[in-house]
Amino acid sequence: MKNMDLSRYARQISFKPFGVEGQQRLVKSSALIVGVGGLGSWAAELLVRAGVGHIRLADDDCVEITNIHRQSLFTEKDSSERSLKVTAAAEHLREINSSCNIEPVFTRMDRLTAGKLVEGMDVIVDGTDNFPARFILNDCAVKNSKPWVFAGVLGSEAQMMTIIPGKTPCLRCLLGQVPSCSGQSCREVGVLGPAVAAVAAFEASEALKILSGNIDRANPNLVVFDFWSNIIEQVNVSKLRTDCTCCVQKNFEFLEP
Ligand SMILES: [Zn+2]
Repeated sequence: MKNMDLSRYARQISFKPFGVEGQQRLVKSSALIVGVGGLGSWAAELLVRAGVGHIRLADDDCVEITNIHRQSLFTEKDSSERSLKVTAAAEHLREINSSCNIEPVFTRMDRLTAGKLVEGMDVIVDGTDNFPARFILNDCAVKNSKPWVFAGVLGSEAQMMTIIPGKTPCLRCLLGQVPSCSGQSCREVGVLGPAVAAVAAFEASEALKILSGNIDRANPNLVVFDFWSNIIEQVNVSKLRTDCTCCVQKNFEFLEP
């Protein structure tokens, strides 16, 4: 954070669970956004507006015109110029809040890059679009004791869960192995823009709780959404963490060759 004038956050500081102390924590905090697509661009925007001091963006894709219906940070100009998502996102985020340190990293998060990407970060926000990547991220987050917020959206349906290593179940506690249906993608099934925005808002609010010193307020449940059928369900997952390969046995097989 280059500038510690907090006056721009007055309406946020008035929100009691934050206060000045929470805001001061936010401006000194950092978040890694893995994947700057629909979830990642909305979540990054919310965290930058809230004043998170350091945002690292990781993505290896270019902006396409078919992204824009759900990816808040990109414009027609970005798609016509085939801009890198991390570059275009960083540019727009700096215009939103020049006091945040925005660090674009043009890379795909994989088992080789994950460790370096999470280094020094206080929270990780899932903006990926596939389960193999999320299993790598889960292993890496648990191994490095980094809280992370898992989310995925397909069609109008979504899931979200906050994972605090050592305290809450991890993604492998929940799913065991990479789901066999994980081949389905937004390309085939489509995706509802407002569902992406809404779930990213849930993710960002979880990240803000963690970063502002309110980690005890993080949601312990799996949240399941269907925005077309007006359903939001909280699923108790507290009993899932029994003999997990990852978070109990510390066997991080998705980080191995
Ligand atoms: Zn686990």
